[in-house]
Amino acid sequence: MVHFVGAGPGAVDLITVRGLRLLKEADVIVYAGSLVNPQLLGSRREGCEVHNSAYMTLEEVIEVMADAWRKGRKVVRLHTGDPAIYGAIKEQMDALDREGIPYEVCPGVSSFCAAAAALKEEYTLPEVSQSVIITRMAGRTPVPKRETVRSFAAHQATMVIFLSTGLLRELSKELIEGGYPEDTPAAVVYKATWPEEKVCRCTVGALADTAEAEGITKTALIIVGRFLDGDYQRSRLYDPAFTTEFRKGSED
Ligand code: SAH
Repeated sequence: MVHFVGAGPGAVDLITVRGLRLLKEADVIVYAGSLVNPQLLGSRREGCEVHNSAYMTLEEVIEVMADAWRKGRKVVRLHTGDPAIYGAIKEQMDALDREGIPYEVCPGVSSFCAAAAALKEEYTLPEVSQSVIITRMAGRTPVPKRETVRSFAAHQATMVIFLSTGLLRELSKELIEGGYPEDTPAAVVYKATWPEEKVCRCTVGALADTAEAEGITKTALIIVGRFLDGDYQRSRLYDPAFTTEFRKGSED
């Protein structure tokens, strides 16, 4: 069995209990060296073989996993955050399917959750935004035309932008031309949960200058939306007047 495991956003104790168990049992670990905290490898058993996929092609990764599986060895493919978000796991799962190799996926704490925790904010505030748009600017990986930042900006919902720290001037322009007022609150969250974490609050119009002033050029999330300015309606769920499945309110 091959296990795709979410390593979490950085801090070694933010991998799941299951993920850590799989890591400890692995005979072979292939980890995404560009972002996975290498300290996690400290949990491996003696004699465990380790490969850094940052230096490998998809074909090489599959070869290592297939070879280990044929020898009856336990394989962990360690991805940063949650593997389902910009993890490029689909192509690996399809290749394993073609080879008839079984696999499972163990979810992880995505960096977009870690960023909310670092900000001490809630993405979904009543009457402010009830939706979170996760997207990116087109880079070397294109984004389908119907999914431009500009078109999503029209909703003025909460937006989390991955993989775009090098494109902040273009990003600001897209956000503003798409519909967010220039003074909409925003944040640049760098390496959430790592010791070098930085949380910089700013506005949509000031994203590029803020990142530049802090020397942030990669491994950051851009967070946008009025949820950041702290104005909202309290939830109905915990309102004394409101009856729920579990509690009778004063209204009834
Ligand atoms: N699967 C990962 C995302 C991989 S894409 C997840 O769920 O988080 C890599 C991008 O994720 C980076 O360019 C950056 O935008 C973001 N990222 C990953 N870890 C981060 C962290 N600890 N803090 C801020 N951004 C992070």
